[in-house]
Amino acid sequence: MGNNGKAPAEKTAKPADDAASAAEDYLEQRRAMVEEQIRERGVAAPRVLAALLVVPRHLFVPDDCVAGAYSDQPLPIGEGQTISQPYMVAVMTEALELSGSERVLEVGTGSGYQAAVLSLLAAEVYTVESHASLALAARQRLAQLGYANVHVHSGDGTMGLPEAAPFDAIVVTAAAPRTPPPLVEQLAEGGRLVIPVGQADQQELLQVRKTAGQITSRALHYCRFVPLVGRYAWRNPNE
Ligand code: SAH
Repeated sequence: MGNNGKAPAEKTAKPADDAASAAEDYLEQRRAMVEEQIRERGVAAPRVLAALLVVPRHLFVPDDCVAGAYSDQPLPIGEGQTISQPYMVAVMTEALELSGSERVLEVGTGSGYQAAVLSLLAAEVYTVESHASLALAARQRLAQLGYANVHVHSGDGTMGLPEAAPFDAIVVTAAAPRTPPPLVEQLAEGGRLVIPVGQADQQELLQVRKTAGQITSRALHYCRFVPLVGRYAWRNPNE
């Protein structure tokens, strides 16, 4: 048997023990992610940090990326798209200033990870994805994991979602050449819209606020997202 002494123990371990130790291992990876990538870089909102600690990011990435699910980077999710870097998810979520009662719109469902985080911090989450295959996969994944207050729609999110508007908070998780007017229109009074705006290779993350009908905007961060493609954004992905 040589140095293969661990094999019998592994074979006799109960599946439940394996599952428990895997869950503990992922929780440990999430703790490290929240501490080192997020809190230490200045995201302080306790509810945001708590949500990031519980959402199982490894269940939102393709099987061949699970080992790197909690690493400090975006990861491919198919269709040329990515699940955003954990830190960017944290920054965008914090900038939405959610207290728990809000109706939120996300444009760019992707894997559904950001929507899952939002679902723990708001009342209802509407999310729109332009790739039908990603929308379908995210809808199934979110339902299976029990995120019952997330509603996944397939379509062009630059049009917003008029049937569910107005929204107290809107987040766009793809890079826009400008803020799509329907999103500003569908923002409730006092609402926050967080969106990366700029060129294809670099954008600024903006927090747009509607106060007494007036729009104010402040830049939070430089960033780089995959392009927002639609009626009020880029007309094709390589523009
Ligand atoms: N929030 C995602 C990351 C998404 S990446 C997550 O947590 O995994 C950006 C996503 O925006 C991609 O899936 C892309 O297909 C989608 N997208 C691009 N243009 C869009 C549009 N006009 N409407 C809706 N989704 C769009």
